[in-house]
Amino acid sequence: MPNDPSRRRFLKQGGIAALAGATSAQAFSLKNPGRDAQDPRYIGDAKAHYAMVIDLRQCVGCQACTAACKVENAVPKEQYRTFVSEFEIGTFPHVRKGYVPQLCNHCDNPSCVSVCPTGATFKRKDGIVVVDSEICWGCGYCLNACPYDKRYFNAQTKVADKCTFCAHRLQDGLLPSCVETCVGGARIFGDQNDPNSEVSKMLATFPTSVLKPHQGNAPQVFYISLDSRLEAVHEATPMLDDVVRKELGLLDKEWPKLPRGVS
Ligand code: SF4
Ligand code: SF4
Repeated sequence: MPNDPSRRRFLKQGGIAALAGATSAQAFSLKNPGRDAQDPRYIGDAKAHYAMVIDLRQCVGCQACTAACKVENAVPKEQYRTFVSEFEIGTFPHVRKGYVPQLCNHCDNPSCVSVCPTGATFKRKDGIVVVDSEICWGCGYCLNACPYDKRYFNAQTKVADKCTFCAHRLQDGLLPSCVETCVGGARIFGDQNDPNSEVSKMLATFPTSVLKPHQGNAPQVFYISLDSRLEAVHEATPMLDDVVRKELGLLDKEWPKLPRGVS
């Protein structure tokens, strides 16, 4: 179960709770990435290689993860670190709904890192890709370089922002907020270097796919039961958001319109 206390404790058992440092998302900032080798926020858990498995058989498209992430990370209105795209697959009468939760893939070959001129965006030793909000000067190279469109300019901090796998929660031995909240237990997070972790067992048991594999970014977010017709896409019409926008009379600013059906 998603809220099983044993799940909440597993990161502590893995030793990451020994990391000291900031305890809130807003406080996560590193003054000298790559230079202050003693800063645990820069290193992360040097023995780990974090990943997320998203079991699409379990996702019900409720957007609880989307809401939890926004609250946990104080994500500004109309901006998202994670969301769940809805697709209609097939043609009538053989139509079904498909849901694809999406977030930064914490790529092993992250194009956002290689283009960053300041070192503000970097990959920790545990695989988590983060942004130092004090060093980022907002040039936007990383936003353009991410083939998954998983970065945005934070309207409040005025710098690049994205999912951090809730690094501030990991320091406290907690799971990422979206994982903790997922009502279907579709999001599984853990250390690939630990063969006994839930994520390792899922990867060993089920075939998985990643989004846009041809980009060569080596994403570390893996999907179980991803429809092959959706592997090349990263956006859809976010129906719930559309409803909210219509209610508020807002223009569709963040997500470009894509075909409602992928068939
Ligand atoms: S998904 Fe985009 S922002 Fe995240 S690590 Fe990969 S290239 Fe960078
Ligand atoms: S916007 Fe910030 S994080 Fe992105 S490339 Fe520029 S300096 Fe680096």
